[in-house]
Amino acid sequence: MDVVGGPGDDPVRLNAFDRQWDDVRADVLDGVDRVGRSGWLVLGEEVLRFERELAAVWGIEQAVGVASGLDALELSLRALHLPPGAPVLTTPLSAFATTLAILRAGGRPVFIDVDRSGQLDLDLATDVLTRRRDIDTLVPVHLYGYALDLEQLQLLRDRFELVVVEDCAQAVGATSRGRAVGSVGQAAATSFYPTKNLAAMGDGGAVLTDDPAIAASVRALRDYGQSAKYRHDLLGMNSRLDELHAAMLRQAFLPRLGRATERRQAIAARYTSEIEHAHVLTPREPDASRSVWHLYPVLVEGDRAGLQAHLERLGIATAIHYPVLIPDQAALSSGDLTETVTPMPNAQRFASQELSLPIHPYLRDDEVDRVIHACNTWRP
Ligand SMILES: *Cc1c(COP(=O)(O)O)cnc(C)c1O
Repeated sequence: MDVVGGPGDDPVRLNAFDRQWDDVRADVLDGVDRVGRSGWLVLGEEVLRFERELAAVWGIEQAVGVASGLDALELSLRALHLPPGAPVLTTPLSAFATTLAILRAGGRPVFIDVDRSGQLDLDLATDVLTRRRDIDTLVPVHLYGYALDLEQLQLLRDRFELVVVEDCAQAVGATSRGRAVGSVGQAAATSFYPTKNLAAMGDGGAVLTDDPAIAASVRALRDYGQSAKYRHDLLGMNSRLDELHAAMLRQAFLPRLGRATERRQAIAARYTSEIEHAHVLTPREPDASRSVWHLYPVLVEGDRAGLQAHLERLGIATAIHYPVLIPDQAALSSGDLTETVTPMPNAQRFASQELSLPIHPYLRDDEVDRVIHACNTWRP
């Protein structure tokens, strides 16, 4: 390959919001103009229409727009009546928000190890649930854009009669044997944070559910617990999706999601077939997963910092997801807010070896070439 990367070249970034803006500008401005002219800024037609379109694209009955992915998880758990102090099985390897939402909903996160793909280990979950009959809530995460094995997740849900809230913040559009993530849990949560696969230009999120009672409950909870104007049946919060963001999502970002996902998948396929290095292991998806490649997480056996520095010298940005496991975070060190019930060898391995290579829909082919070349020429 005659590609050379060097400090003189443009940096290869983890996101390219300037390129995205060139692409979406006309649609975003049109959406903003429509909202401005409507004179209706909070919980109006745009949110309703976006919710309907998102639900249709996802193949789930109802979507409810909220202020963030964190809130979408918390409100899902609250709508499902999580009892105070209830243990909730979840993963130590995720955005901190997954655990924070469980705590905010009044639950007690219980951590078990991940499998070799970095996802909550469903076999281990079976063992723990068999021993711990007090656990009846599960918050799995479809991490990195992969889909957990949904057949196995459904068997687990049915066998232990679990309440399941799927964290789909990184996995909008991912499937397992053709089935969409978010379709096993009583509810699923997603995020429209700007780096996510389906993103707004700021914060936002949604709850997805086939159950109209759960959707109604989330609709009330996101708006001070109102069931009708000035009728408060629940103690809710303010977690509304703005009309502006709903308009942008509906007009600019949701219609581009399919092609953006295809581009991520094409880049991932090239990385997987062309990165060849004894110490750089390309990712392995769970069985039957069709990933949407929110991230491209390689495992570096040996000197991860060395590879990161080598790529940095060649102008290629990388990141680590995640360097500190959730149970090891300082915010959880006091008291007994959480519980860790298995050893964590796989999760520790991700914390010490994972490196995320640039992958986003605006990454150009020549930049993909540079990333591959840079990895393959690393001398540890
Ligand atoms: C981003 C993210 C969240 C939180 O979403 P916010 O919109 O940032 O609150 C939750 N879980 C996972 C797995 C995420 O990646």
